[in-house]
Amino acid sequence: MRNNPYCNNEGTWLRGSFHGHCVEHSACASIPLAESVANYENIGAGFVAITDHDHITDLSETEKNHPNLVLLQGFEYSSRENMIFVGKHVEPLFKLPLEEAIAKGSDLLTVIVHPRPHADGRDYWTKPMIEELGVLPDGIEVYNGHYGIATAVARGRQPLYAEFWDEMLTAGHRLWGFANDDFHDPEDFDNAYNMVLVNEVSQFGVIQAAKSGRCYASTGLQLESVSLDENTINVVVDAPCKGTFIGPGGQILSSAQETTNFDYIGNNEAYIRFQGEGETGRIFLQPMWLQDTEER
Ligand SMILES: [Zn+2]
Ligand SMILES: [Zn+2]
Repeated sequence: MRNNPYCNNEGTWLRGSFHGHCVEHSACASIPLAESVANYENIGAGFVAITDHDHITDLSETEKNHPNLVLLQGFEYSSRENMIFVGKHVEPLFKLPLEEAIAKGSDLLTVIVHPRPHADGRDYWTKPMIEELGVLPDGIEVYNGHYGIATAVARGRQPLYAEFWDEMLTAGHRLWGFANDDFHDPEDFDNAYNMVLVNEVSQFGVIQAAKSGRCYASTGLQLESVSLDENTINVVVDAPCKGTFIGPGGQILSSAQETTNFDYIGNNEAYIRFQGEGETGRIFLQPMWLQDTEER
């Protein structure tokens, strides 16, 4: 159910990044495909997607060496504001106008990447641009690890897009939040990931869970549990942090410091979401819509 993506906590949590590149097929990347996939297996990832710029990288050989890792095909639509397309099998939809590509890729995971604020302050993925697509993608990066590394920050980039996410959610656009390494270079590993609650450990299972919001975004903080009883949301995380429930307009509904256990009683807000920030990193849960039963 879209109103509360966590209403059914059954399944297996898998960790992974939906956005990354390899030196073989992205001029901006420095790491070979085999090396990056091996790195992900070593840090305990359950899945990883390769999204080269306007190119679908063949993963059939890599798959043979990593039978325990779910490998996802994809590409990053790059001839205009960027968006990743990820799935079990992906067609070269980057040859089409983006509006058509999203419409044709309805079985794929589609995520707007590193939206705004953007480095030079230029118009990049504004709300009207997204509205003009006609079909809403599944989600938006709320954190892009590649834009948070020291060399990127020195160039004026920044990795956090939660404010823009709230702008979209406030306008009624139900986008899920994702955190990805967007790996290009050695320093891009293990900075940002998603925890996805899958019914089956497979490409289909990961995409289905991500498209229905049975996932959360993290840079290190992890979820222990989330529950909803009547209108009371309870969130427990794995390390003390500053935890905040946020509603329309990015309004802070409640906030607590240095604890792992957070409660909020919904008060007719159009949406409610939780985010935390502590020494071990950040966490962003998906929004919940307690007040209506309308599907997207
Ligand atoms: Zn790139
Ligand atoms: Zn990228």
